[in-house]
Amino acid sequence: MGEQSGGSHLVSRRAVLGFLGAAGATVTFGSLVACSSTDNSNRSRADNGILTTAESAGVVVLAQARQALAEGSFGVGGVIIDNASGRIIHEGHNTVIQSLPNGQSGLSGTSFLFDPTNHGERQLVSWYYENASALGLPKPSELTVVTSLDPCAQCAGSLLAAGFNVGVVAFDDPSGINYTFDCTYPDLPPDLRAQAQKSFTYYAIDGVRAQVGASSGPAFVSTSLTKPTADDCTTVFDESRAVVAANRKFPGLEPIEMIDPGTLPTTSPIRQALVEASPHAFTLRLADFRRPDSALQTLLSDLVARTPQATNAVAYIDPFGNLLSAFADRFDISPIATAFMNVVQSYSRTRFNLTGNPSTNAEVAKTLTTPKYGTFVFLRALAGDAATSVKDLGIYDLTIEGKAFMPETANWQYYLDPPTGTEAQFLVLVAQMKSVTGANPSRVAI
Ligand SMILES: [Zn+2]
Repeated sequence: MGEQSGGSHLVSRRAVLGFLGAAGATVTFGSLVACSSTDNSNRSRADNGILTTAESAGVVVLAQARQALAEGSFGVGGVIIDNASGRIIHEGHNTVIQSLPNGQSGLSGTSFLFDPTNHGERQLVSWYYENASALGLPKPSELTVVTSLDPCAQCAGSLLAAGFNVGVVAFDDPSGINYTFDCTYPDLPPDLRAQAQKSFTYYAIDGVRAQVGASSGPAFVSTSLTKPTADDCTTVFDESRAVVAANRKFPGLEPIEMIDPGTLPTTSPIRQALVEASPHAFTLRLADFRRPDSALQTLLSDLVARTPQATNAVAYIDPFGNLLSAFADRFDISPIATAFMNVVQSYSRTRFNLTGNPSTNAEVAKTLTTPKYGTFVFLRALAGDAATSVKDLGIYDLTIEGKAFMPETANWQYYLDPPTGTEAQFLVLVAQMKSVTGANPSRVAI
């Protein structure tokens, strides 16, 4: 298991698999803590991992997809490759669903939602911005993200916002951004469509399909995958969906079955965890959780004003009207760190941690539920032509998991026009994104 110490840059396929096996057990970058703790191992691994073909990259992402399946999440894996050298920069996998620690149960399921945004490709983009400067990494345009499955809207938006080249093994109908399989990308605004056509490739698979998409740009674009590797990427993903369904029993109670977390004492660990994650938690309560007021608009405007480079802020309001989480964009950290992503990540991870804690497991199930039952309130509508808007629409789909509660009243509302472009252009983008279902954003009526 000491593969990192090897001096040769000519790594056999067996050796690549060997060190993946060693590192795969420890590398998860779902949390900031895990991320920082893996920096050293990744740097030494990168010295050893040189890939030369689509097949060798496919073997790497398949191993990561299998790791995700073994952990009970969706079986998708990815890797960042330096185009010039074929060097592995970083690899990872989907950690949306995680096993609960301490033998806890999510009402009889052993797994629980950790973070709906934690697809492998989105995490690779976030990892890049957290480490690019310290590691002296090349620009995204000189790198390729190879993924075992066609990226969803969230991940495609993240990859386009960053400017990575992308190499894909398996198609994903209906959730992949190339769900038409012909690289026309009908969900994307025109400029991003052109960018994807120049930077996303779907590798040839021996005896199955010819290469489609960008014919230059992504690493290994003129090489092919073997059918077994490509088939396994699809099979692992399909298997994982059944595993997730079997182990994850509890998305969350319906509001009528819940207890209002605003009635808990301020010393309750649930309230304290929410306030620690987002200092604005419980500072505001709406009389009607579907009717955002002017006080909430002021709070969101202040958040934007106090955060460098931010143009938007988002609040999550629970079905009782409690403000549970509010964040501004954090473009000072990463061009994909939108306010909406920050809110979804913070709330989901806090709920996961409380569910995994024996002292809060029972109470959190009664007081915090899936955000599909609440309201997301944005200060502004989103730009109709931005990759981050595609990403946020994708995140909405992942967060709502198919359908919102009470769809007749919008659970995505905004006060103001977009930072650039018009409200009408934003609504055109919403309507054209067929890979995102159920999004129905509307302007706050004050
Ligand atoms: Zn994705």
